[in-house]
Amino acid sequence: MGQTEKLDGGCLCGAVRFSATPDNRHFGACHCDMCRRWTAGSFYATACGSTVEIHGESSIGIYASSDWAERHFCKQCGTSLWYKLKSTGEHYVSIEAFDDSEGFELVRQIYIDEKPTYYALFNETQNMTAAQAEAAFAPSNRGNKNVGS
Ligand SMILES: [Zn+2]
Ligand SMILES: [Zn+2]
Repeated sequence: MGQTEKLDGGCLCGAVRFSATPDNRHFGACHCDMCRRWTAGSFYATACGSTVEIHGESSIGIYASSDWAERHFCKQCGTSLWYKLKSTGEHYVSIEAFDDSEGFELVRQIYIDEKPTYYALFNETQNMTAAQAEAAFAPSNRGNKNVGS
């Protein structure tokens, strides 16, 4: 769980480039309806705190998907970049947006009760329902930033 190094990433078309330092090499999968629509699959994300540095900020589109969070994407090519909690500035960066995601380990699946039956991930993970994930994310319990994607 120590610091890992800064990683480079970007969108499909290259208009947005960024670097970020993940808290660790763990990531979570979110199966909620919004993430699946947004990414065309389950959303694989890793907590990067406020370490995201952006080149090409003018190409970033922001969708406020709830009162508490935003989804940032490339306006040119549509790549899903990260989910950002407004209150803490925590960025959950798509591991698929990094240039090299080898070495990351899937440790958690959230909104497991919203996962459709037509796919399943076989990894051994901690699984959380929507209610469990939302309880963990509640403003009173934001200290546990390893929870959720
Ligand atoms: Zn792009
Ligand atoms: Zn989700």
